[in-house]
Amino acid sequence: MKKRILIVEDEEKIARVLELELSFEGYETEKALTGYEGLEKYRSEQWDLILLDVMLPEMTGIELLRRIRSGDDKTPVILLTAKDSVEDKVTGLDLGANDYVTKPFQIEELLARVRASLRIKKGSVSDGLTAGNLKLDEQTREVSRGGKEIELTPREFDLLVYLMKNVRQVLNREQILNAVWGYDYYGDTNVVDVYIRYLRKKIDLPEETPLIHTVRGVGYVLKVNE
Ligand code: CA
Repeated sequence: MKKRILIVEDEEKIARVLELELSFEGYETEKALTGYEGLEKYRSEQWDLILLDVMLPEMTGIELLRRIRSGDDKTPVILLTAKDSVEDKVTGLDLGANDYVTKPFQIEELLARVRASLRIKKGSVSDGLTAGNLKLDEQTREVSRGGKEIELTPREFDLLVYLMKNVRQVLNREQILNAVWGYDYYGDTNVVDVYIRYLRKKIDLPEETPLIHTVRGVGYVLKVNE
């Protein structure tokens, strides 16, 4: 079945280009030119993804996103934001947007983001591991945070799987070493610290709430702070 994408964009030229490119890629699309029209179309039909411009007449994209997420809807939303509106991006991601693309965008980049967001939605149906907005699928080996794909090396991936499977449990370096590197590993336990550092750089970006915590004198724990 064709994936259905709702395009909410008031600049007709951009909306037309998006429709054209997306239908060429095999998606079924429909466009709404105002916030209210977007809300109506969102409510009246089923969508696999929503491309949502932030600057819209009548109702902003942010307000529309708020209404979509208040209904606890998990439909992936990609925001189309202006180049210098950092605030919109942050607000949008906080409100549960899966991703954003900055205008003017390259169509290839946008199509890649669309594919990624659709994959993540599919992955979440299977047996994935979740901690806050961090998601990991052991089958496809896909990792994402806040809808953004994260590239991990095989060792980093195994380490993250172990941390996520033991969420909220403080793990010492020996435990981690045995589980991830195996009992036959005779190296220094410092390797754990090194790999935790690598993981943090990829998982706990400065704009995100940290998930990997150091427990002084003991080890590490992955948890979502309430
Ligand atoms: Ca606009």
